[in-house]
Amino acid sequence: MIPPPVCSRKTLEIGSKHSPEMMCLPFKVFIGNYIESIEKGADTIIITGSCGPCRFGLYSLIQEDILQDLGYDVDLIVIDSIKEGYKEFISNLKKITKTNTLPQLYKSSRLALDLIKRADDLTQKSNYTRAYAVDKNHVNQIMDNYLKTSVQIHGASELINLINKTKEELSNVKLLENYNPIKIGIIGEIYTIIEPFVNLDVERKLGQLGVLVDKSLTPTKWLEHHVINYPFGSEDENNKFKLAKPYLHTPIGGHGRETLGSAIHYKNLGYDGVIQILPLNCMPEIVAKSILKNVSKDLDFPIMTLVVDEMTGEAGFVTRLEAFVDLLSKRREKHLIG
Ligand code: SF4
Repeated sequence: MIPPPVCSRKTLEIGSKHSPEMMCLPFKVFIGNYIESIEKGADTIIITGSCGPCRFGLYSLIQEDILQDLGYDVDLIVIDSIKEGYKEFISNLKKITKTNTLPQLYKSSRLALDLIKRADDLTQKSNYTRAYAVDKNHVNQIMDNYLKTSVQIHGASELINLINKTKEELSNVKLLENYNPIKIGIIGEIYTIIEPFVNLDVERKLGQLGVLVDKSLTPTKWLEHHVINYPFGSEDENNKFKLAKPYLHTPIGGHGRETLGSAIHYKNLGYDGVIQILPLNCMPEIVAKSILKNVSKDLDFPIMTLVVDEMTGEAGFVTRLEAFVDLLSKRREKHLIG
């Protein structure tokens, strides 16, 4: 496996140069990722597909054309939803897991899912620890070291050992006593939520402010809903659809419905507020954003929206986060006094 270099300004510049201008941000970062990986020697690219009413369903088609026009000879494997074709789904999985029989495929897939879950759990543990840590930079150092080492090691057992070691280091971080952090849910478009370069490392920035952060979507949550519990879906995500129903009946593509359901879900969990993050030009999230105004008003629940694109500046972003956290702290104080 050739992991693409960690996303950077350079990745985005390469991607923006070769993408249609009005395309959404994840598309451009993907193109940058592909080209940087190809230059490191990759000859195959794996991407998930989509059949929903948003641009993601077209990503692989347009991206294949762009790569061909640039003269790159790569195999683009698209893992579409199972309902788009069971046979192709299995054949693609066999190809990428290098297995031929169904039991072998099952074993390899279980291992991959397990590793993804362990990695996601570790990130969430770091978010928890950072919120309570006396020295938040210590948590950052532990996680930086984990990320740096994870691309230098090989194989599942080495990765599991690294994750376990990092977990232990996080468990030893000194925590504040009697501390009740502000709790914020991060909702919105999945790629923007999970890619730190694109969301300007929002989890870490909020953690530095002593906020406990939880993401509404992670690779694990996505897999649990779309693959592991197929065709019924996961209980959590189905519940979000139910919560969103009074505001939106039909799917609008991307994770627009989940965004609405997740906002209500976090309100029900007693969170102080949510932040919706979306890439500029993301149609499903723009629709969700307009409806979130009603959700916020009906539930008396603070919701802030952050739009990210190539021009998003760090300073303005941090100021908005600080102002939102300030607002939530004041609301909490007011409720306590009241
Ligand atoms: S959900 Fe939004 S950002 Fe993602 S592919 Fe669709 S339109 Fe683009």
